[in-house]
Amino acid sequence: MSISQSEYRSIKEKSVSGRYVINEQILEFLEKNEEQLLIKTVGRSVQNREIKSLQLGKGPNKILMWSQMHGNESTTTKAALDFVNFLITDSASAQLILKQCTLLIIPILNPDGAAVYTRINANEIDLNRDAQNRTQPESVVLRNVFNGFKPDYCFNLHDQRTIFNVGRTSKPATVSFLAPAHDPERSISKTRGISMQLIVAMNQVLQEMIEVK
Ligand SMILES: [Zn+2]
Repeated sequence: MSISQSEYRSIKEKSVSGRYVINEQILEFLEKNEEQLLIKTVGRSVQNREIKSLQLGKGPNKILMWSQMHGNESTTTKAALDFVNFLITDSASAQLILKQCTLLIIPILNPDGAAVYTRINANEIDLNRDAQNRTQPESVVLRNVFNGFKPDYCFNLHDQRTIFNVGRTSKPATVSFLAPAHDPERSISKTRGISMQLIVAMNQVLQEMIEVK
């Protein structure tokens, strides 16, 4: 699957741009597309903002994605909205994905952080470090969604700083995929092995589209 530049322009969500992306914009996007999406309020943030999820597709492969766990990392939120726009077109590859997969997406997991453009939530906790202890309502929401949906694959979507290079080259990393290890020995568990294979497949598709300079 790949899409051309002109196809991309047609699915790019134009109502959301820039680095500052907040919950209200997501609510508007969801309202605009409510007929095509199964929309839920999956919980509330520390400051009582709604945490929304959207679901689409009817396939056996269950995919959970969440973005803006770090409130100031909005690139992948915008990408997720573009992806949803692509999926609700009648393109053959979009239809194939929806037949093969059920997608559940949380566009902004940390709406309080998004509102004030911080990485942390309103209690000054980094939610990406709270997955095990789950001291924060946003972490509990994510775990409840995970337990209810039972995904086969998860995408924990983040921005990265601009200082990362590709290996030891001088080329900056545009998109990075991580398959973190579960132990200090960095062993390759079954699920980590599957993640690594998926990353190889995604990279192969992307290399056909990304311009190399
Ligand atoms: Zn992050």
